[in-house]
Amino acid sequence: MPGRPHQGARCCRGARWWRQDEPPWRLKGLPHTATLAGAAFGGTLMAAQTACYYLKVTAAVPLAPATVGVAAIGLASAAAGQAGKMLDRAARTGRGPSARELRREDNVREAAVDFVLGALLFKTLGGRFRVALPSDVRYPGAFARESIPAAGREYANESQRRQLVALYRRLGCHHCGSRAGRPIGDHMPPNKSAHGGRDGTKGPLNWQDPEEVVNRFMRDVVPGGAARFPPPRQRYYPQCESCSSKQSTAMRVNRQVIVRHFGGWNGSYLGGLLPSVRHMGDYAGGSGWGSGPRSWQWRNVRGAVDRAFGPLLDGVAGAVAAPVRAAQEVGDRLRRIRL
Ligand SMILES: [Zn+2]
Repeated sequence: MPGRPHQGARCCRGARWWRQDEPPWRLKGLPHTATLAGAAFGGTLMAAQTACYYLKVTAAVPLAPATVGVAAIGLASAAAGQAGKMLDRAARTGRGPSARELRREDNVREAAVDFVLGALLFKTLGGRFRVALPSDVRYPGAFARESIPAAGREYANESQRRQLVALYRRLGCHHCGSRAGRPIGDHMPPNKSAHGGRDGTKGPLNWQDPEEVVNRFMRDVVPGGAARFPPPRQRYYPQCESCSSKQSTAMRVNRQVIVRHFGGWNGSYLGGLLPSVRHMGDYAGGSGWGSGPRSWQWRNVRGAVDRAFGPLLDGVAGAVAAPVRAAQEVGDRLRRIRL
């Protein structure tokens, strides 16, 4: 039954929603919206990361986190917003969106607002845009956040190891985000980049780190620089065994090896999901927060899905059933012949 505004609706506007007979509460259906928006957000991020993987755009490419990373988080937020809005519409009206509606100008504007809002909230909650990109194992990875000072090219000592275990448990492998097994203290820049390999060749240079770039110039380009300037300061990042072995190969042959990841879990992702909550109640049919006669009904969603996919599913079911029915008929006839 649609809710009727109670008599005193004018005197207590803010509290109207809970005084109605059947409140079409704006946040009803929040678990469903959050689940669908989360799937749209995660799916968009995975698709963006896969595209970057094939285009070889990693978290180590200069300016990539600030451009491609922001775009991926923004797109994922816009997708989450649209998914949340579609569900709200289906749950309140029993109808899915038409192609024309999706192209509508204010819909596009809303998606643009979600894009900016999602990226801003993600950043405000402490998110880093490089997590949207795959990692190149020769450089600090998508999850490179905290590290500890390394003692030159040496391996980590016992107390450094303990600190690395704590970092690994909290932040995961800086390339893939894994927390499995025991961590390795990964030198950044790698020893071959900082000191040179046995054959005297230097490993690749991290263009995202100005200090490292200047140091390389001073030591390798300025005459006599190698004697005057010390190698760059190195740090240990927590790394898993799998990424460590990939890195050894990549450094030995100096070839890019890219690692994809599932983004890890981080509270900052909630910032990218909030735009989807913003659209809840858009189709309640009233004006103002949470007001309107159309309440959130799960059966409306089922109706909308049936209407959208029913003919398609009937077609599939028919196509599957036809040969089964034909086989049954043949069996029946054979049985009759035998009798
Ligand atoms: Zn890893």
